[in-house]
Amino acid sequence: MGLEVVQTPKTVEAKIATLVMEPDLRTQIINAQRQDDIMEKFRAKVRSGEEKSFKVEAYNALTFEGRICVPNNDELRNKILSEAHDTPYTAHPGSTKMYQDMKKKFWRNCMKRSVTMFVERCLACQQVKVLHQQPYGKLQPLEIPEWKWDHI
Ligand SMILES: [Zn+2]
Repeated sequence: MGLEVVQTPKTVEAKIATLVMEPDLRTQIINAQRQDDIMEKFRAKVRSGEEKSFKVEAYNALTFEGRICVPNNDELRNKILSEAHDTPYTAHPGSTKMYQDMKKKFWRNCMKRSVTMFVERCLACQQVKVLHQQPYGKLQPLEIPEWKWDHI
């Protein structure tokens, strides 16, 4: 006889409890740092005094110039992008603003590119863009940017 998995109300409750008890983003980043070989190497160098640009701060957070180092973890990186883009507090910033905000807090490679890609893929942002591009007949005359006249 094989193992039978029965979904009792108890297991459902347990699942909900884990979702609620999920640690905050900073804690998740720190936990993920500990599983990243490169970050662990930096951490060791900070401790030995070999590395001065990085620091190990409160709660064992590895930082670079005060910004928390985001390890190479796609799931976590996506979560950070979502939090910076799609919450009632952030309300879908454009990629330039989003990048400026993020680089104050986070340090990782290729951040600008991944921010741009994230905004381009955001369905809500795409819909807003389409709405703005829709012609409204004669109410909205075709706008020619003024700077273009400078070259004529
Ligand atoms: Zn968006």
